[in-house]
This record gives sequence, C-alpha cells and structure tokens, in this order.
Amino acid sequence: MTNKVISDEERNEKLKKKKLRPALELIPPTDPRVHSSIAPYDDVMLAAFGFENRHDLVEDMFKAMKKYGGIGLSANQVGLPFRMFVAGDHPQIEDGMKLAVFNPIMESMSDEKVMMKEGCLTYPFLFLDVERPRKIQAKYQDEHGDFLDIKLDGMMSRIFQHEFDHMQGQVFTNKVSKLKLDRAHKKAQKEMKKLRGLTKTKK
Ligand SMILES: [Zn+2]
Repeated sequence: MTNKVISDEERNEKLKKKKLRPALELIPPTDPRVHSSIAPYDDVMLAAFGFENRHDLVEDMFKAMKKYGGIGLSANQVGLPFRMFVAGDHPQIEDGMKLAVFNPIMESMSDEKVMMKEGCLTYPFLFLDVERPRKIQAKYQDEHGDFLDIKLDGMMSRIFQHEFDHMQGQVFTNKVSKLKLDRAHKKAQKEMKKLRGLTKTKK
C-alpha cells in the first residue's frame, strides 16, 4: 500500500471539480428518457457529463439515492444516458450490501415467483404489488471495471430486477393491470394531498 501525498494545488483542483458537479435530480415520469432503453455504458461517455471516473458517478448516484430515500436508482431516472444503476446500502437489506452495476446481463431467473410491494423514486407515493421471480443470477461490471457474477434472493433480487427493467426503459407500472394501477394512483394522490395539507397547516 502506498501513501500518496497530494499538494494543496491538486487538492484545490479536485475540490473545484467536485463543485462543478451539480447534485443529480430526478426527472419526471413523463420524460422520455425514463422510457427509453439505455445504450451500453462506456467510460468515454463520462467526461461529457462532468464525471472524471466511475467512482465520481457512483458517489453522486448513491448520494442522490439517499437524498430521495431510495434503495435503488438507475442513471436514466436522473437523466443520465448510462446503462448503470446503484442499489442497496440499507442496514436491513443483506447487511447493507452496496451494488454499483454497469452493463448488467440477466443470466437466469427462478421459476418460483413472489409478490412484493414495490415503490419507485420516479413515482412518489405510488406502491404496487408486483410479481417477479424470487431468485436471479446476473453478470455485470462493477465500479472498478471488474466483471462479476452474482446470485441474489429476497429483497436484493427484487431491487436488482426493478433497476434492470429501468435499463430497458421499463417501469414497474407496466407490470400490473390497469385496474390495479388506477387504484394505486388514487391512493397516491390521496397521500400527496394529505402531505400538502400538512405543510399548509405548518405555515
Ligand atoms: Zn424505479
């Protein structure tokens, strides 16, 4: 292990670069970028969006995911054309397992399916019961560029599948019936109204 000492100048340069990267913001569900399949990720795409390397991108993605209170976030949800997502970092899910996933390939899914309630940062207050395979096996590249094989079960498998859909421009509202979706939308609107009412009385 080496101990790299950086000069003040280098440090200032780094800080300046950090400041030039504005916080990532969610784009609305009506934005076509949320509904379009994302092209394969390549490091050369980073510079055009102010990222020096994958670590910068992963750091900003996790920051945004946390800010919005999510357990998964895909790049296209914040308007970035990168086939990548971040997931996890929650103490109650697989001991805080954190995944930064680039160019994922789904290898296999279990025949066994499970129903679970899902939310999506792009659709605040909307929660849907979605049926999906319980277990998956997938291949992807991590933030160091290493190729990994992963087997997932439970909540992490669920998050991975949800985010993997985002890579194809698919969202969870496409996975349920219109009736179910309408009901969930009504419920979401009620919740939003309640919240607005609360903020009004506070003022
Ligand atoms: Zn989502």
